[in-house]
Amino acid sequence: MQGTTEKHEFQAEIAQLLDLVVHSLYTDKEIFIRELISNAADASEKLRFLKASGGEISDPDAELKITVSTDETARTITIADAGIGMTHDELIGNLGTIAHSGSKTFLEQIRQKAADGKVDATLIGQFGVGFYSAFMVAEKVVVFSRSHLPGEQGWIWTSDGRAGYEIEPATDLPRGTKVVVHLKDTEFAQEWKVQGVIKRYSNFVQFPIELNGKAVNTVQAIWTRNKSEVKAEEYDEFYKYIAHDPGAPAYRLHFTADAPLAIRALLFVPAKSTELAMMRRDEEHHVDLYCKKVLIAAKAKGLFPDWLRFLRGVVDSEDLPLNISRETMQDSALLAKLRDVLANRFLKFLDEEAKADAEKYSSFFREHGHCLKEGAGTEWGDRRDAIAKLLRFETSALDAGKLTSLADYTSRMPPGQKEIYYVSAATRESAEASPYYEVFREKKWEVLFLSDARDEYVLEHLREFDGRKLVSAEKADVKLEEDTTGLDTDTARLLANFVKETLGDRVGEVRTSKRLASSPALALNGDSEITANMRRMMKAMNRDADLPPAPKPDLELNPGHPLVMNLEKLRHADPALAAQIAEQIHDQSLAAANLLDDPRAMLGRMTALLEKLAVKK
Ligand code: ADP
Ligand code: MG
Repeated sequence: MQGTTEKHEFQAEIAQLLDLVVHSLYTDKEIFIRELISNAADASEKLRFLKASGGEISDPDAELKITVSTDETARTITIADAGIGMTHDELIGNLGTIAHSGSKTFLEQIRQKAADGKVDATLIGQFGVGFYSAFMVAEKVVVFSRSHLPGEQGWIWTSDGRAGYEIEPATDLPRGTKVVVHLKDTEFAQEWKVQGVIKRYSNFVQFPIELNGKAVNTVQAIWTRNKSEVKAEEYDEFYKYIAHDPGAPAYRLHFTADAPLAIRALLFVPAKSTELAMMRRDEEHHVDLYCKKVLIAAKAKGLFPDWLRFLRGVVDSEDLPLNISRETMQDSALLAKLRDVLANRFLKFLDEEAKADAEKYSSFFREHGHCLKEGAGTEWGDRRDAIAKLLRFETSALDAGKLTSLADYTSRMPPGQKEIYYVSAATRESAEASPYYEVFREKKWEVLFLSDARDEYVLEHLREFDGRKLVSAEKADVKLEEDTTGLDTDTARLLANFVKETLGDRVGEVRTSKRLASSPALALNGDSEITANMRRMMKAMNRDADLPPAPKPDLELNPGHPLVMNLEKLRHADPALAAQIAEQIHDQSLAAANLLDDPRAMLGRMTALLEKLAVKK
């Protein structure tokens, strides 16, 4: 067949990935067996589905089983299936390129982890590039494949994982795929070794697996078994198998329902969020949809709302028609019903878990909370209220790092407090130092500290919780008890007029404050709709052009503060100096509220003031 061999280069990302796989992954090498068997099972599932839904396939009678063989002398391990196989172009597309979006970011991340020495071989299976794990142990991989499409011929794909790969035609191949891994050493060419690896999870594979001619597994769908008969380790192994995750899951929910739909579901929450680890949104879903143990859709979109995309697992419903296609999945009324039942059941489960073990729930929330926030920010009605109960925030009432629910917050509210308050700031420290927080600290009223950019959107969307308004501290109308030691009302009003005249239209309104304890003045964003924090976020996203111009902040003076009281005296004795000090108070209050756009203008005014004071002495 010389002369018909085509040479191809790997896509740049694959070449980089292979370089990492070969040079940086030393642990968990055995996972390559699991990845190749999982590919064989996927291909067999697809074929079974095509057959069940009446598609045209070649060799319709070929048995759907997975055969593994080892050869110590030849130093090979071979994994073969009778699944859908690959055409010439599919071999190029599937084994020569990374299809999923964000592959660059993904590579960046593993490269970073590899540099830190923390890279973990299982990562590559989690991100849909499991096939390449074979190159951890291989000096050469040869893939024989013939597509299920009638009339397609067979092909041989060969690569050493370095330069690129070759493709040549092959005759007489059965339908499906055979992967021959030529090993660097004999470890995985030993039958007992391979058997140990396969045994652990093979019972979850939906097809018989044979190793050197002997059956290894009993095929059983774990989700169809009775809950009381499944051991915790079996659940964990199943999770590891489907999620390509080496660790145990954070939560597991195995349930059956009969009405309104017959459902058997086995759902898992990973202990670690892949979105947080990869710093990108996961566009895929990870729950497979079955009908009576036949896979209808892998990673079925539309089965759960997007904000539950962190779930892994299986849903099996007898009520679904077998011929439901991926396209009709989205808009079928049956699916919408299924989605509702599943989401509500899962929310109820989370609520129970949160009550049973708050600590554990907080850990869950740190990993996946951003998804629930997305749900709270996009859902309406009862669903939204159910999610609101599951949200957690940092709060002034608890130590840093501890989280509260809104229900716990309201249970701590003193009799005089009617609303729920929050301060948005990048860190807890800056929230505690915020001038808006001052009045609450004095009154000993609890304030939620929001440091996640999403929180403010979510709380704006919720508007209230359990009948109590959610109010930004910036906009809160909260007063301290009357203080009689400061300037009297009339004098304070005259001073406010003086300050307003001095600042002109650089300030909104100037008035006396009833909410300040230790600061001389407070700049208040006069905008009733958009908080300063949101403006900053929109600006960061280059979307501030969509917003109406920000009104000038108002200024509130603390009539009991010594600086303000002295300013009142100074404005009669030295009006020019008093005006300069008023400017400085204004600048500082803007800076404290993070509303100062250009600090350089402030520095100029400050220098002028210091010059004057230095001369005075
Ligand atoms: P993933 O399985 O997560 O998609 P892999 O790197 O394991 O990622 O496999 C890449 C692709 O190669 C698969 O999506 C599939 O299209 C194709 N593939 C791999 N192994 C087989 C096989 N045994 N039969 C058919 N197609 C396969
Ligand atoms: Mg795979």
